[in-house]
Amino acid sequence: MAPLPRVRPYTALLNRVRAVAERDASWVLSEIARLQYPPDRYPLLALRMPARQGAPHLSVSAGIHGDEPAGVEAVLRFLESDLPRAAALDLTVLPCQNPSGHAHDTRFNGDGLDLNRQFDKPGSPTQETLALRPFLLRRLPDLVVECHEDADADGFYVWEVRRPGRPEIGRTVVERVAAAQAVTAARVIEGCFVTEGVAHPTAERIARIGGWSHTYFLLRNGTPHCLTPETPASRPFEARVDAHLTTLRTALEVLSQRTVLSPE
Ligand SMILES: [Zn+2]
Repeated sequence: MAPLPRVRPYTALLNRVRAVAERDASWVLSEIARLQYPPDRYPLLALRMPARQGAPHLSVSAGIHGDEPAGVEAVLRFLESDLPRAAALDLTVLPCQNPSGHAHDTRFNGDGLDLNRQFDKPGSPTQETLALRPFLLRRLPDLVVECHEDADADGFYVWEVRRPGRPEIGRTVVERVAAAQAVTAARVIEGCFVTEGVAHPTAERIARIGGWSHTYFLLRNGTPHCLTPETPASRPFEARVDAHLTTLRTALEVLSQRTVLSPE
């Protein structure tokens, strides 16, 4: 593959993540892989903030598609804010799952593969999912927020999959985002029904896209609730970052309420 121009310095992201961990010792920062794309190497970083025993576990992730930067920026700002500490939840954060794609502004990883189709492959050909799969399985979240962007969307929307008994979060997210910006008018996205900005993935779509995504991997392994916010790439960057942050704030709120409602 011809070398691609580097458009975003990954070191800037590393510095911000490391600064977060240095400022607050509650964060446990780990390098779960050192990705090799000679002559480049990229540390794949994960953060954990363990809460008290029995606290709900939220996983926050972004940047699995390298050309979707608003989610990455939102997760960085989330880390830099007071939100994580205030929530008293067990937190896992993967700020950028595709560092090479992020640096070069490409959907795919440095080998030209879509990482969000590799999670069903234990002997995955991608270095990133080879590290992400066992890392995620070590401690399954009760809720995952996986930030994405959509180049074709006319407004914000969020995929939501939840098992019976789980509170609905997508509708609240959409209501809050809609107060500041456009939500999609689409009734169908990628062959799936959309109800006022909340998209419902079907098993048929999962089969059609040709490999498990991050969220489907978690669902299949027991995570009961997945949210995938999608911001329209045509909108201003700050508005897209805001929409992801609104999703994260709402997810924290709902999970924190559960802590209050069901004390140990
Ligand atoms: Zn994406």
